[in-house]
Amino acid sequence: MPTETISDRFRRHAEDWALFEQAKEYALDYMRTVADRPVYPGREAVAGLDAFREPLPDAPADPRDLLARLHRCGSPATVAQTGGRYFGFVNGGVIPVALAARWLGDTWDQNAALYVISPVTAVLEEVCEGWLVDLLGLPAGTAAGFVSGTSTASLCGLAAGRDFLLRRKGWDVGANGLFGAPELRVVLGAGAHSTVYKALSILGLGKDRLIKVPVDDQGRMLADKLPPLDDNTLLILQAGNVSTGAFDPFAAICPRARDAGAWVHVDGAFGLWAAASPELRPLTAGVDLADSWSADAHKTLNAPYDNGIVFCRHRDALAQAMSMTGSYIVYSDQRDGMIYTADMSRRARAVELWASLLALGRTGAAQLVGDLCRKARRFAAGLEKQGFRILNDVCFNQVLVACCDEAATKITLEKLQQSGECWCGPAQWQNETVIRISVCSYRTTDEDIDRSIQAFVKARGRAET
Ligand SMILES: *Cc1c(COP(=O)(O)O)cnc(C)c1O
Repeated sequence: MPTETISDRFRRHAEDWALFEQAKEYALDYMRTVADRPVYPGREAVAGLDAFREPLPDAPADPRDLLARLHRCGSPATVAQTGGRYFGFVNGGVIPVALAARWLGDTWDQNAALYVISPVTAVLEEVCEGWLVDLLGLPAGTAAGFVSGTSTASLCGLAAGRDFLLRRKGWDVGANGLFGAPELRVVLGAGAHSTVYKALSILGLGKDRLIKVPVDDQGRMLADKLPPLDDNTLLILQAGNVSTGAFDPFAAICPRARDAGAWVHVDGAFGLWAAASPELRPLTAGVDLADSWSADAHKTLNAPYDNGIVFCRHRDALAQAMSMTGSYIVYSDQRDGMIYTADMSRRARAVELWASLLALGRTGAAQLVGDLCRKARRFAAGLEKQGFRILNDVCFNQVLVACCDEAATKITLEKLQQSGECWCGPAQWQNETVIRISVCSYRTTDEDIDRSIQAFVKARGRAET
């Protein structure tokens, strides 16, 4: 008998329905148990990851063994982010039907680069673009590029701004780079996210030659401390400070920037979604006057990971900054997604984004975002009642917590993280290590909040003994 080639083998697996049923069973098993397991993997589960550390074997693995190992060793070592008591970083939960849609979309294995490569993805992107611009109150005609996350979204938005400002000065960055280019001024708030600095350094704008505008005690840019703006200025604002959740005063700043001819980019990773809630929308007043925005559907909107969006008021500016040509690249008169992103080949992330938006509807999106804020306030009020210090005005979904002193905070956080009851991370806030809570998941109930408050109290008790 001739030996089976790898292609023969995979052709056989492609019709091995039991293999996919098995994967489904593992996934369902995970979903059934995730809410009740430790929120963070314990020492034993993490030690179990050693099972993955082996040299690449010579022979192909048995597919069932491989899947079984992934579930046996991988699942227990995951962070239970899809349960209700994970409050670390600013991560979101996952909308069930969006996850289900992703399963189907993953099976399609589409490439979102061009219409001709995947008409269905192009149409879903086009639909999501229109819905999001409407939901967030952005200017009609704003372009959206679907990227991995806000880091890349900011990179694309700032590239569009850089090129636009310099083109107006008669300088073509795409052709000539930045060598000998007129100088741009980059202005941002002292509370800007580290990914903005990263984007600026990649874009050749430098992260040490920026003009940093002082911020207030919530991390909001002080409008009256803004330097004079001109048409050489790239101004970066923020919707949602990563520690406090505070929003820059767009209404006080954006009209001035527009009058001066500056380009305004807004890092709205998790905060831009406030615009979807009538109740919270005032936080974003004036944000629609900016030129580009970045946002993460995988945070506040609870879309599956990786789902970031760059928005740009000037469709051509984004397309020009991201443009490339190749003999085999066929642009169409339909939507060609790659002209709005840094990538060429991409996953069809619009599948789960479309599903998320449709599953929510306008009222659902408003409720989801409003609820995160309400729950964050409940968390803060409950902790304060238990004698913890709350260090920020809880205007959105972020809460900064501290014990009586920094040493007590640090050890309380350590005990809290070990408890498996809930998980929060640390942050540096005004020269103090504090505990940062981010309420980001639809899954979190009032009971989850109350149970987590009890976990805080217990952790502090343990810290004292
Ligand atoms: C999360 C976050 C980012 C980075 O987004 P990624 O999706 O992780 O790339 C940038 N800015 C703010 C304010 C954030 O919260």
